[in-house]
Amino acid sequence: MCNHSTGVTCTIYPERPDACARWYCLWRRIGALPDELRPDRSGVIFALEKSSPAAAAREGACIVGRAVDGEQAFERWEATEAFAMFVREGSLPVWRVSGDTAILLNPGNQDVPQRPC
Ligand code: SF4
Repeated sequence: MCNHSTGVTCTIYPERPDACARWYCLWRRIGALPDELRPDRSGVIFALEKSSPAAAAREGACIVGRAVDGEQAFERWEATEAFAMFVREGSLPVWRVSGDTAILLNPGNQDVPQRPC
C-alpha cells in the first residue's frame, strides 16, 4: 500500500504524482462495467498490468482483480461476473489476488499457435 493512502483515499490527491493521475482501473476504462463494480463499492480493483502478480508465472500483460479489503469481496455477484467476463474473453491471463495469494483463473491464449501468413 502506498504511504499516502489511508486505505480509502489519497492524502495528497491534488498533488499526486503524474503516474497516479494518468492511471485508470478497468472500471474507468470499460464503460460496460456496472456501477456496482466501482472499486469502492465492490471491494475489487480490476486493472491491466504489465507483469504477472506471481513470481513463478510467465511475464507479460494480464488482467488482475485485487481485493481491496479482504477476499470476501470475491464472493459478491459483481466481482464473480466480472472475473467470468474476463475469463470468457480469454485473450489475456486473468489473476485473482488477495494479499499475498495470487490465483491464475485463465492462462490466456498466448500459447495458441499463430497461423502462418
Ligand atoms: S493516488 Fe498515488 S499517491 Fe495517492 S494514495 Fe494512490 S498511489 Fe499513493
